[in-house]
Amino acid sequence: MEIMGIKIPTIITENSGIRCEGCREQITGTPFRVSVLDIIATEVAPSFEQASPINPGPFQFCKKPECPALWMSRNSWYTCQQSEVREIMRPVPIQLPGGANGLGLCDGLHQSAHEFIPA
Ligand SMILES: [Zn+2]
Ligand SMILES: [Zn+2]
Repeated sequence: MEIMGIKIPTIITENSGIRCEGCREQITGTPFRVSVLDIIATEVAPSFEQASPINPGPFQFCKKPECPALWMSRNSWYTCQQSEVREIMRPVPIQLPGGANGLGLCDGLHQSAHEFIPA
């Protein structure tokens, strides 16, 4: 891996014991990677106490389609029904029933309103 002429040792190499973030099984072949962007626009005013705890990843998954959802549900995140799981996901602050703050992941590629459901 090389960025702007600087060689960066790659810690993650293909086929060397990478485990899926969903099922935790060893990934054979090229993993599917998902990165989570920082929260950019929110309706809720950001504060330092509510700083995003999100690790941007990339998170790596095996080929099974249910694994990204497993990973999201382990984090208590919601998933947008208008969205597909893509390599770049955007976190969206949402208000859960009862008034608690939650987080939904969406690819941000649709024009319609988000439809968040528990992952
Ligand atoms: Zn998996
Ligand atoms: Zn959405």
